[in-house]
Parts: sequence; structure tokens; C-alpha cells
Amino acid sequence: MKTTSLRRWLQRYTPLIAALTVLLAGSLLVCLMARAVLLQEGRASAMLVHDRLKSTLDSFVLQATPSLQRVVLNCPAFIYNARLLALHNPYIRSISIGDADGRTIRCSTISGSQPQPLPPRQSTLRFLYLPNSPLVPNTAVLILRLPMAGKQLYFGINRLLLNAIFPARANHLETYVTLGRYRLNAAGVLDDQPRIHHTVAANAYFSVGFAYTWSSLLHYVAYQYLAYWLLVVVLAVLVFQLLVRMLAREARLCGKIGQGLARGQFHAFIQPVFTRQGVLCGGEVLIRWIHPKEGFIPPDAFIKAAEHSGQINKLFSVLVQQLLATLNQPGIRLPVGFHLGLNISAPQLAQPVLLTDCHALMAMLAPQQGVLVLELTERVEIPDNAACYGVLNQLKSEGARIAIDDFGTGHSSLIYLTRMQVDCLKIDKSFVDLIAEGSRTDIVDNVIDLARRLGMVTVAEGVETAYQQAYLQEMGVDMLQGYYFARPMPLADFVRCYLPQPPG
Ligand code: C2E
Ligand code: CA
Ligand code: CA
Repeated sequence: MKTTSLRRWLQRYTPLIAALTVLLAGSLLVCLMARAVLLQEGRASAMLVHDRLKSTLDSFVLQATPSLQRVVLNCPAFIYNARLLALHNPYIRSISIGDADGRTIRCSTISGSQPQPLPPRQSTLRFLYLPNSPLVPNTAVLILRLPMAGKQLYFGINRLLLNAIFPARANHLETYVTLGRYRLNAAGVLDDQPRIHHTVAANAYFSVGFAYTWSSLLHYVAYQYLAYWLLVVVLAVLVFQLLVRMLAREARLCGKIGQGLARGQFHAFIQPVFTRQGVLCGGEVLIRWIHPKEGFIPPDAFIKAAEHSGQINKLFSVLVQQLLATLNQPGIRLPVGFHLGLNISAPQLAQPVLLTDCHALMAMLAPQQGVLVLELTERVEIPDNAACYGVLNQLKSEGARIAIDDFGTGHSSLIYLTRMQVDCLKIDKSFVDLIAEGSRTDIVDNVIDLARRLGMVTVAEGVETAYQQAYLQEMGVDMLQGYYFARPMPLADFVRCYLPQPPG
């Protein structure tokens, strides 16, 4: 009961669930695509900053080394050479020389030979940011430190250098340079807003990276990928409409099946089955829907809907009633050991009416030792629960036989074989179709060989030509069925053409 209402609920909301799934999966895909492009953009921007800043610092070192190295111990000469250098480079604010331990400045273009203490914690870095310069209070400065002739050389660099280094700011990501505990961009120190950070490159002086926030990523998606996202929305709407239409069509079809049942539009047909030697040994019952307006509606067009709606049980009962009404008449005798095959679907196994119907057929077949064969299609797997297999095993113990229909087309036959004892394999028509003069037959040979090696009775369906019949006979297939012998026919025709007629 619970599973039926769950199934109904799922069926009802399937279009919505499917559309939401498409929408979510599609949006995620668009976000991932946008994020990949954003990361690529971030990496490129960070690498540009890296290369520009690194080459700028390298150029400072290259310019300074020859003129300052000689005068490290001579403060006035040092200041003179350093000021000359600073004059040629707009970003150099000061040049100073300090002790080897990095704690004190001894000589500087700003403070002259007056000793100045340096902040202790960052003094191990080669390139650092001081929000408060020790030489010019209340101004931020970048310091480049260079060991030189047993001393430390310090370049005080204008923070504006960063303006020249950073490319134009993109709205959706922040590129930055990391110096110690500071992350700097063109505007100064990056604020504390929570971000997702990626470090891209590092060297002896600094590292570079970029960061974005979730909201900036969403903005980016909204502006740059709006068209893609709209496409996803359209797809989700299409899926929704398609499923709604499909379900409505199925609901209409179920309504029509209900009407057809009430008006007696369903008929049992039977297709004779022959032994290898050509003797009638059985028949497969096939349903026919003859609609007063639409004419013949093939089973493939309605069996699935009937299975979903549970109407398949009623259809089966209709066939059973017609079989009983025709074959149970006095004077009508089926050949001894006749195999009466009926197709059954997995949902029928859970319904007790199947047992009642099968018992009635078995009782009808008993006087002539006839056998009821239940054909289970290989294309749909039977749920692995005790109730389903319990019904089949009970029927088997009472004398019914189980056949695997469409053998070779699905993947479930071997699973069935492990769960219950199968008696018969029906080799699918698609394999029989491969048998033709001059064509390769390895596939069909293999299927027949496998069926035989499994030790079961084999039936070939869809035999249409004398060549196929001869070939299958040669291959040792036990029974044959197909248009070559006979098409499915109304029960009355079958009785008239194939069964001994009652006297008089
Ligand atoms: P199936 O069980 O494999 O039935 C064999 C199908 O092949 C039948 O089609 C039959 O008419 C057709 N056939 C037999 N010999 C030949 C031949 O030589 N050439 C060609 N071209 N076709 C041949 P049908 O009656 O249209 O049934 C199609 C399927 O519908 C069946 O396949 C079966 O899966 C399902 N079906 C039919 N009746 C019932 C039923 O009462 N209950 C259930 N659950 N399924 C049924
Ligand atoms: Ca069948
Ligand atoms: Ca088949």
C-alpha cells in the first residue's frame, strides 16, 4: 500500500522533480564553467603582477649594486650616490644602510647618519610592507632589503608602485601581492571580507594570488553566463512540459484501456509453436486490441501503460476468460502435452489474481497433460523480493513452466537463472533475423549455443523463411515459432485450423 502511494506520488511529481534536477545540475555546470574561466583569469592576472613586480625589484637591485656597494661604509658618499639613484627612479623614496642583524638603520637618504630602530617582527623578510614608516611617520611604505657587503641595504619604495603594477581591477576578483601578513592590491591592504583565496606564484621577495567571494562569482555568472543559464532554464521548462505531456498521454491511454476493457475490445490471439520436426506442440497467447475507431492497436503501444497503471492484471484475466471459454468447450481437445504460453509482466507477480487465473488455466490443461508456460521478458528485471519469486516458485511446484522471453537482448537472464529454475529460453527474433543465406551467423550461433549449454528447452521466435527453419533445425533448436508457420490468429481460427473438430 505504502509503495503504491509512493509510486503515485513520484509519478505525479516526476515532471517537477526532473525539471528541478535539470535546473540544478545545469546551473551547477554553468557555475563550474564560469568558475573555471574565473580561475584562469585570476591566474593570468596574478602572473602578470608577479612578473611586473619581480622585474621592477630586479631592476632596483641591478641599478643599485654597482654604485652603492663601494660606499657601504662611507655614509656621506652613500647618501650622495643613493640620492642620485632615487632621483632617477620615481618609486624609490629612500635608500638606507643598516646593521647586519637588521635591527637598526645607520645611514639613510632621509635621516642621514642618525641611527633608527627597525620594527623587529618583519625584519626577516626581504620585501615588506610597513603601514607606518619608521623614517616618515604616518606614511605607508614598501621596503626592499638586500644584504650588501656585510650590511643590509634598504630601499623605501613608494606604495604607488603597486598602482603601476596591478592591471585594471576586475569586479569579480581581487589580485594581490602577499608581503608577510599583508595582502596588498592597487588600493592598499585588502579588506577582511571573507574570500576564497588561491596563491599562484611565489619567489624570494613575495607571493601573488587572487581571491573571489561567492557573491562575486554569482555576479560573474549572472553577467557573463546569463545566456547559458537561460538555456538551462529553457531546457528545464522543456523537460517539464515533455514529461507533463507524456504523463497526460499515458493517463489518457489508461483511461482508454479502461473503456476498452469495459467494452470488450481486447481479444486473445494465439500463435502456434512447432517442434523441430514440424509437429504442433504449443501456442503463444498474444493480446489484440481492436478499437472501433482506431482499428488494431499493437501491444507495444499499450502494455507499458497497462503495467504502470496495474491494468495488466485485468488484461491477463480477460485473456484467461477467453481461453477458458473457447478451449474448455466440450469436444475440443488440445494435443497431449500442449505448451500454452502466456506473457507475464513483473508487476503481475505481486497480485494474487495471477495465481487464481493460472490455476484455472492449469485445470483446463490437466486432462491432456498440457503445460502452462509463463513467459517473462528479459528486458525488464523482476524485483529481487521473496513475494515475486514466491509466486513463480509456487506455480512451478504446481506444474507451470517458466520461459525467458527475448533471450539474449537483455542482461537479466543470468540473474533470473541464479534466483529460480528456468525451463525454457525463447531466442529473440532479432537473432533469428540474422540467419540469411550468405550472411555471418556467429552471433546467433553463440546465443543458441549458450542456451543449449544452459541445459534448457530452446524456442526460436520470429522464424520467417525456409532457410531460417532449416538452419535452426540443423542447430538443434527444440521448438520454432514464426510467420513461416503461422501468424497469431483468433482463438476460434486456431481451434478450426489446428484442433480436431468435435463430431457433428
Ligand atoms: P513477444 O512476447 O516477444 O511476442 C512475439 C511477438 O513477435 C508478437 O508480437 C508476435 O506477433 C511477433 N511475431 C511472431 N512471429 C513473428 C514473425 O515471424 N515475424 C514478425 N515480424 N513478428 C513475429 P506482438 O503480438 O505485437 O507482441 C509484441 C510484444 O508485446 C510481445 O513480444 C510481448 O512482449 C508483448 N505482449 C503481447 N501480448 C501480451 C500480453 O498478453 N501480456 C504481456 N504482458 N505482454 C504481451
Ligand atoms: Ca512472448
Ligand atoms: Ca520477442
